[in-house]
Amino acid sequence: MSLVITGTMAYDAIETPFGKTDKIIGGSCTYAAYSASYFYKPIQPIAVIGGDFDQVEIAAMKARGIEFDGIEVKENEKSFFWSGKYHMDMNTRDTLVTDLNVLETFDPKVPASCQDCDFLMLGNLMPVLQQKVIHQFTTRPKFIIMDTMNFWMDIAMPDLLETIKMVDLILVNDAEARQLSNEYSLVKAAKKIMAMGPKFVIIKKGEHGALLFHGNQIFSAPALPLEDVFDPTGAGDTFAGGFIGHLAKTKDISFENMKRAIIIGSAMASFCVEKFGTERMKEITQADIDARLNQFIDLVNFDIEIA
Ligand code: AMP
Repeated sequence: MSLVITGTMAYDAIETPFGKTDKIIGGSCTYAAYSASYFYKPIQPIAVIGGDFDQVEIAAMKARGIEFDGIEVKENEKSFFWSGKYHMDMNTRDTLVTDLNVLETFDPKVPASCQDCDFLMLGNLMPVLQQKVIHQFTTRPKFIIMDTMNFWMDIAMPDLLETIKMVDLILVNDAEARQLSNEYSLVKAAKKIMAMGPKFVIIKKGEHGALLFHGNQIFSAPALPLEDVFDPTGAGDTFAGGFIGHLAKTKDISFENMKRAIIIGSAMASFCVEKFGTERMKEITQADIDARLNQFIDLVNFDIEIA
């Protein structure tokens, strides 16, 4: 059974207070697929790339159990390109360029080999395309999660609301949660977003961790305080990939198991930001992940006597 992840496979140009990159591989699907591949195989991305997408990068993804049945290659066109610049706090950024390129005419196709999917992640992508992917499953996957961003809220809100209705869980960052709900309080925002359809909402707060909401239940996961953060690009997608990878591995969608999944997502995101682009996601080992999960346990474990 495959774990299907749709989203962008892109070239990014990133500027942070600590450095600048030329075009490097990025994209919501790329980060999520790398992250999930540490927990589940096979990963089946549904994405589109141009003829310019580096063959070495394709081989590296295949070597991690990421399959290419659902990836369309438009030989004579350019891959999606995004450029962003981070502010001094590294939590906020400005988008400088979004060139849709191959994405402009992308018509995602879910191959027959993906029809048995139980867990589907709709990574950040045009909301209508996210819907197109759901509609192609003859049997609805058991659990569908989606990510999005302010860009789509600004230009495609009605489509986005339609996609939100169709999923079980949505991930947004704090600013996006506020934009989507018109509420400052994240608790009120989560309630309003749950009323739009999803039974679960995750609100990511960058270096301040993430909140999981379900009905009246709330779980708070920390982010690991790191000495050096080089590039937060893809942290959200990496978080989501680790989260869905764990759910697919355990086949357990209870709130208790989602608490573990959110910690795993946070651990994976903590690796992602340590180097530029996908570099760190390619080199970590299971031992690295285990050690980091232990750091998370130490970070939040305390005894208290309540009189
Ligand atoms: P994140 O830092 O988790 O928000 O994800 C950053 C990644 O999202 C980058 O690698 C970009 O290529 C990709 N990206 C940026 N803008 C968009 C967009 N409008 N739609 C889909 N993917 C995007």
